[in-house]
Parts: sequence; structure tokens; C-alpha cells
Amino acid sequence: PTTVVWLRNSLRLHDHPALTHAAERGGVVPVFVWAPDEEAPWAPGGAHRWWLHESLDALGRSLQEEGSRLVLRQGTSLDELKAVCEASGADRVVWQTRLAPALRRRDEAVREGLEAAGVEVRTFAGRVLHDPEQIRTGSGGPYRVFTPFWKKVRAQLDPGDPLPAPDLGGAAPATWPESADLDALGLTPEAQDGVDWAGGMRETWTPGEGGAAERLDTFVSQQLLHYDEERDFPAARGTSMLSPHLHWGEVSPRQVWAAANGWVSNGVTREAADAFLFEIGWREFSYHVLHHFPHMPDAPLKEKYERMPWAHDDDALRAWQRGRTGYPLVDAAMRQLWHVGWMHNRMRMVTASFLTKDLLVRWQDGERWFWDTLCGGDLANNAMGWQWAAGSGADAQPFFRIFNPLSQSTRYDPEGDYIRRWVPELSALPTKHLHAPWTAPPEVLEEAGVTLGETYPHPIVDHKEARERALEALKQVNV
Ligand code: FAD
Repeated sequence: PTTVVWLRNSLRLHDHPALTHAAERGGVVPVFVWAPDEEAPWAPGGAHRWWLHESLDALGRSLQEEGSRLVLRQGTSLDELKAVCEASGADRVVWQTRLAPALRRRDEAVREGLEAAGVEVRTFAGRVLHDPEQIRTGSGGPYRVFTPFWKKVRAQLDPGDPLPAPDLGGAAPATWPESADLDALGLTPEAQDGVDWAGGMRETWTPGEGGAAERLDTFVSQQLLHYDEERDFPAARGTSMLSPHLHWGEVSPRQVWAAANGWVSNGVTREAADAFLFEIGWREFSYHVLHHFPHMPDAPLKEKYERMPWAHDDDALRAWQRGRTGYPLVDAAMRQLWHVGWMHNRMRMVTASFLTKDLLVRWQDGERWFWDTLCGGDLANNAMGWQWAAGSGADAQPFFRIFNPLSQSTRYDPEGDYIRRWVPELSALPTKHLHAPWTAPPEVLEEAGVTLGETYPHPIVDHKEARERALEALKQVNV
């Protein structure tokens, strides 16, 4: 019998239970259907599309090397899957389940439609390590606080060994269905916007399963030991940068789990590995909360935050997006995001705090910008991060804790390396004045070639005043 494997965002051959199941049964037809409207209002953003193009290209080549193919289609998922089954004689469609709300509804409709057409459906877990339905608090509800959630999950977690890539050599279907051309999906920057804006992304990433495996291997073998000390410093290459690979399922959380644990006692301490696995735990928690509170990407989990009197300031939003707030650390981070489609975690917290508190702009506007510009924008993690920063989420930082962009700057970029890398027009300033150029004496600015208001903006707000305004606004939430 022939099985269609609907690939979605599990773009890998290793540790892919649905693909392995199909290969064990007989013929395998790997299919990707481009149907962005079905994911609305969270259809893949611009950077996502660039990554997807590259990742599909890589996957197509790997499948070909294995004697298989990648069938690309565009249209409605149900119609395309039915047509692919008909053309290849497949009697079963398998996929890895997704947890995003719109996709759960879509998947249910696809299942019903396929079954009505006489095609069997099997689904497999693997997006996360825990089962959000099985993990419950003592009173039977979902968790809203991370620490007890992770304690419970960790105590019973046994993800097992990742699966090897299945042998697809003898698994060709009797007839291959037609495939669209990858370029016809219109995912490249040129097709999207008429210009190639992905240069910085291309220099930074190798999308696809091979790039993910290499990144994971380098991280666990060389960086994991120092993760805990280095993870907060954006100028260091201290974190794994696995987020887009995990988002696109080019590596599974089980593979990451096994790789980190595999290095324990092999040069990496248990504490070092646990510090990293703790962050994988936050990913589990984000998905848990999204599963149980599907409105998390769109509305505050703490309802009283609906009353927050946001500023609706488009100029401020635009200055933040473009990295022109006049706060060098914030601007460095926003430009890193624009250039490479990724931003360091501490910088995500700093820029999110700056937008929602110093500028009093709605967290949903920041969430949307990240979604469009991150290669690994992830509905669960992004919404969790923004609601955490805005104080309205599950286990969130309280709104009244407002990051001071200057002390964050001197603490986490003490030498100013990160700022110099991303805000080159300030690079000649002495470190002492780099974090707050408006405090530099005129002769120092002149010497460094900086003219505030011309070569670099004046600060868009005064942090002390902005903090007062935010705390005043909070009073309306807490009436
Ligand atoms: P590492 O430190 O190496 O961590 C390894 C993996 O653990 C990450 O790839 C990620 O899958 C997971 N992880 C790490 N930190 C977190 C966290 N705080 N919450 C949930 N999972 C985590 N992460 C995304 O994957 N996509 C997003 O769209 C996203 N948006 C965010 C928005 C805001 C405002 C904030 C504060 C955080 C956001 N995060 C997001 C979480 C985190 O910042 C990134 O996962 C991390 O910076 C990615 O870099 P890394 O892979 O080097 O992380």
C-alpha cells in the first residue's frame, strides 16, 4: 500500500514517526501543500517564506538522494491531498500533529474530508515532548505557572531515542503525482517584494535538516558547557540558534533532548545541560499554554489588560521597527532582527519591554513585527514572549518591572561590541558614551563623527518620564 506523508512543518527525514510509519507500510509520497490562507491570521511572514523556500529546496534534494521525491502543491490542503492520493493510488495520509488553533481546526476538517473520500488518516505526535492533554495540575486543569509545570513534565519525561531516517529506496509509489515548481510558490524575497532582502540571512543560516544537524552538533560539542554563563550576552555566540530549525521541524525536540543529554559526562556537566534543557522546557510550556488557551496570540491571558490605555503611536512603532529609537542597545537588536531574521533572547526581552512600556505600544504590534521578520517566528513562543514582557501572560513578568535600557546595555553589552556591530555609525564613540550618546560631551561626539538628530537619532523618549507614564497607565488596568 502507498501512504502520503503530509509534511507541514516537520521538514526532516530523521526522527519522523509519520515518515517511518509510511516507509514500513510500502510506497511513500512526501507532499508539501502551500496553503497560507489556511493559517490566517498567522500565515507565514516574510522571513518565514524565505526560510521555507530554502528548506523545501534542501528537503527535495535529500529525498532525491534517497531515491524519493518531494511533491509540491498549492491550493487547498484537502483538495490537493485528495488529488495526490488519487494520482498515486495512496489509501492513507499521515502527518505530525500541530498545536496552533487555526491549524487544529483545519486538520480536523482535512481528516473528515479524507475519511469521507475513503482515505484513512493517522496522526503522530512529536512537535513537543509532552502531551498537553495528559499533563494536568492536581485539580485537573492546565498549568499556568512554569516551575511546577516543568517539575511535573521532567519527572515523567522519557522521550526515548530518536528514530533513524527510514529507507526510502524501495518505497517509490507506482505513479508519482505531479509536483509544482518550487519557484512557482513565490516564496523568495524577489517574488514577495521585488528585491532580495535576504543577504544577511543567507550569510547566517543553512536552512534544512543538514544545517540543523550541524548547528546542533556544534552547539552541544562546543558551546553547551558554557551556555549558562554566556547565554545572556548578545555579543557572544552563547546560545544554540536552533529556534528556526526547531520551528520548521528540521530537527525534533527529541533529537535536541538526546543530543544535550548525550554530552553529559562526555565533557558537559549535568548542570550545564539542565540550564539549556530548562529553555526547551519553556518551549514545552508555551505550547502547553497555547493548546489550552488558544487565544494567547491575540488577546491578553489576564483579561484586565484589555483596559490598558495603549498609545497607538505609529511613529514610535516605526522608529522601533527600524532601529531608530536613539537607544543604541534597542536599535542594535532591532537591526539584528531585520538583517538576520533572529534576535538574541535577552534582546527580545529588552526590545519588547521598550515597545510596550517606554513607548506604550500594544504588545500585539510587536508580536506581529517579530512574526514577519523572524525566520523562526513561532506562534506559541512568540505569543508567550510578548505576553510575558507585557505582563498579561501566563507566568509573566509583572508590568511594573520595567527594564532600564541603559542598565541593560552596560550590564549585558559591557564592551559595546554588540552595539558597534549593529549600529556602526556609533562605533567610534568611546564605550563610556556608547550606551547613551546624548550624554557625551560635544567634542567627543564630534571626534567620533556623530551628530545627534542627523547621523543618529536623539532618544525618542526620556526613559524616566516614559516609565512614569507606563506606571500611570497601569493604574487603569488595576482599577
Ligand atoms: P537557546 O537559548 O539556544 O534555546 C534553545 C531553544 O529553546 C530555542 O531554540 C527555543 O526553541 C527554546 N527556547 C529558548 N528560550 C525560550 C523561551 N523563553 N520561550 C520559549 N522557548 C524558548 N522563540 C521562538 O522560537 N520563536 C519566537 O517567535 C519567539 N519570540 C519571542 C518573543 C519575545 C518577546 C521573547 C521574549 C522571546 C521569544 N522567543 C521566541 C523565545 C526565545 O527568545 C528564543 O527561542 C531564543 O532566543 C532563540 O534563540 P536560540 O535558539 O539560540 O535559543
